[in-house]
This record gives sequence, structure tokens and C-alpha cells, in this order.
Amino acid sequence: MTLLERLGGRAEITRGIVAEFRRLSRHPHASWHEAATARDVAERLLELGVRPVLDEAGNMMAEVPPSPGREGAPLLLVQGHLDMVCAVSPGSGFDPLTDPVCIRDMDALLRSDGRSSLGADNMLGNAAVLWLLSGRKIAHGPLRLIFTVAEELGLEGAKRVNPGWLSGGAYLLNTDGFHLGRAIVGAAGGRRETYTRPLNPVPAPAGTAWRISLTGGAGGHSGYDIHLGRINAVKALGELLALLRERTGCALAAWEAGTAHNAIPAQGSLLVVCPPETEGVLRPTAEAWFARCRAAHAQTDPNLDLTIAPAPRPGRVWTAECRDGALALVNGLWNGVAAMHPEFSGVVGDSANVGKIGLEEGQLQVCAFLRCRDAEREAALAARQEAAARAAGFAWSVSGYPAWPGAPDNPLALLLERVYREQTGRTLEISAVHVGLEPSIFQSKAPGLVMVSTGPEILDAHSVDERAPLHALPDYALLLAGFWEAL
Ligand SMILES: [Zn+2]
Repeated sequence: MTLLERLGGRAEITRGIVAEFRRLSRHPHASWHEAATARDVAERLLELGVRPVLDEAGNMMAEVPPSPGREGAPLLLVQGHLDMVCAVSPGSGFDPLTDPVCIRDMDALLRSDGRSSLGADNMLGNAAVLWLLSGRKIAHGPLRLIFTVAEELGLEGAKRVNPGWLSGGAYLLNTDGFHLGRAIVGAAGGRRETYTRPLNPVPAPAGTAWRISLTGGAGGHSGYDIHLGRINAVKALGELLALLRERTGCALAAWEAGTAHNAIPAQGSLLVVCPPETEGVLRPTAEAWFARCRAAHAQTDPNLDLTIAPAPRPGRVWTAECRDGALALVNGLWNGVAAMHPEFSGVVGDSANVGKIGLEEGQLQVCAFLRCRDAEREAALAARQEAAARAAGFAWSVSGYPAWPGAPDNPLALLLERVYREQTGRTLEISAVHVGLEPSIFQSKAPGLVMVSTGPEILDAHSVDERAPLHALPDYALLLAGFWEAL
């Protein structure tokens, strides 16, 4: 009897996992609001004869005894997260803290009703695991299930997992992947940098004030989208300001752009005070700069626009020293891809994003985010960033999470590759990602643990268009079950 036959055939697998997913999704489960869903998972585990334990953060752990005859197999940790990114369609009235996702099953896809994200990231992976454990005829070794909370807020639940939950395990399988047929064996570390300096503004000089606004950048995620060459509004406005300083000697009253450390800034503005004698130079200089800028980004940011409008004259402006320091820092910070990954083709190895500039509690603040494939690379890039900050007169603070340096010969991934080929006839791609994953945290708590991440197919995660093709579910179940049996 084949594994597919033992699992009841493709239609039965799909029906079973979808039913499990609906049950686990019946309560809202935003980050740090997973308690009701955790109760549902616990109830399900108790039905399976497994008693889960919770920690103070809300993470859950349960030991699943081996099938008869598989007692000698190595302990495998199977891990996923319970929370979801709650994208909401504007004007839909959907409240992710009180409204459960309304799941539709149409056109061979699972999707929401369009008001919210689906939460297949990562609940569909969890559902596949629970379905496989509910009375299927699979001969698995000892398993330890771990369900974490607040993954989407920066791996917060994983950070709080007691290292004891990882001990004794040889291997960990993370189900938080988006591509069926791809095994992830490495992830980038993240370093969140916040640079500050006092502003001490001075009375504005004579002249007219102008608000120069750059809008319509494509923006995006500083991990997934950093290699696309999109405009960075903080950097671009810095370039324009340097030019205006040189041609007009303008004073600066405001420079604001971007929203977060890890988002590519899509828009921003400058407020400048231009001396009367150079006022005629301001607009032609800015327009000529923008023509070049727009041409350079015609492919990546087709909706760019620049407006130059008279503004009420501000009472105070930045000191020239502060303006020049801000320009020096923004110019000195790395932005974009620093290096591609040497071992995984097409994967970014190291990158930086200058995410935001603006005022925070009366101080000038510049935010940046580094992603690096290992600690050494991060230290090298961080030293460059700090040198730029020191020279520009800024102080800084940092936080982050470590890298999970990947090896293409990861034995778990090679086993998954073999199982996937046997079960589907297709090859499994072994790769790394340029974003943070929970194994990055587990690696630091249990350095000997061999880990791999692989999930079902999920499209447009973190958006209201999030959807999961149903045809991928049987192959994902075969991959997990075959892997458990082969380990
Ligand atoms: Zn996820």
C-alpha cells in the first residue's frame, strides 16, 4: 500500500487538512492574541491523546509518542507559529481582534472573503501536522510539537521559548514556508539600528519656504524586495538636499521620509528656507534632479512624482551643522544589496535599508535595518555603519536577531529532497531566505540542532489577497509523512 493510499487519497487529504484549518481559524489570532486558538489546538491535541503544556508567553509544547516499532528513531521537533499578519481591506469594517477570518474555498484556492488576510501563514502548516497525527497510518518516531506566538512581530514567541523545550532533539522541522517543493536551510540575521542626534533648532534666516515632496515610490519589504532596485525616499531626498545646499545655500526646517526600519521608504518631504538671491535656482535645480531620478527609476517606480510648493515660513530651522550631519549620515549608511549569497543562487546574502528619517521626541532620528547571512558579515557591515554615524555626530542603539547560516548539504533537506522525489516525481529546491525565521532564534538556544523549513504553497501572504492552492496540500502531506517515516 502506498503512502498516498494509506492517507486516503488526494481528495481525502485535501478535505481533511481544510477542515482542520477551518477549525484552527475559527477564532481571531493576531500576534499576542492567540489564546483562543491555542485552546483549540490544545483541545485537538487532547483528542489525540497528547497533553500540551503552555509557557508564560503563550507558546505551546506537546510530546507525541512514537508509533509502535519506531521508538529508536531520533526525536524530531515539529514547529509552527499560531499568530498571523492581519491585513485588512480599507473600509471593510473588519476588526482582526474580534472578527474571525471568513474562509472561502473556491476556484481550487483557499482564500478569505477579501476583507482580511487568510492566515494560511502559518496555520495551514499547523493544520497539515495535526491532520497527519489524527489517526493516520503513519509510522513516525518520537515527535515534539512546538507552537509559538507573536512570530510576526519579530520572532517574539520563539525568543521566549525555554531552551529545555529544544533539548534532546536532534532535528527541527519548521512548517512556516510559502513554497511547496522548496526547503529552506538558512535565514538572514536582522540588525535594527536607530541613530539619534539633538536638533537644537535656530531662528529661520530671511527667505521663502518651500515644501518639496517626493511621492509614489513602490516601497516594499526590506528583506523580500531589497534586490529590486526601488527608490529609497530617504536617500533620494538626501541627494536632492545636498544639491540644493550647494546651489542655493538653503536652510533645512524638516526632512521626513519612511515609516519603519524594515520598510523601503516610498515617500517623504523636505521643508527648506531659500535665501532671496538664489530663489530662482531652487525650482529648476529640483526639477532637473527629478527628471534624472524619474528616468533612473522608470522601471522600478513608475508612479514617482515631485511637487515643489510654497509653504508657510517656519520659525526655526536646523543648524547648518545638524543639516550637514544628517546628510553625511544618510549618505554614509549602506543601502541596498551589499552581497549576494555565495552558496544559494539568486538569494541576497547581505543588505541594508535606510528606512526612516524624522523627529522623535525632539531628536533627529534615522532608522536602518541590516540583514546578513552570518555574524561575521554583519559585524563588518555594522562597523561601517557605526563609523559613518560617529563621523556625522550621531549616537545609536541596536537590537535584532541572529542569522541562521545555511549549508546546502543540510542532511534534513537532503532527506526531504529524496522523499519529495519519491512521492511526487519532482525535485525539491534547497535554498535560503533573506528574512528572519524562527530557526534563527532556535539556533542560538540549541546550536547543535539541525533544522529545515518547508511549508505548503501560499501566495501573497501578509495581504488581503493571501491564498493557498488546494492542489498543493496532498503533496505537502506526503512530504511531511514520508519524511517522518524516513527519519
Ligand atoms: Zn509565517
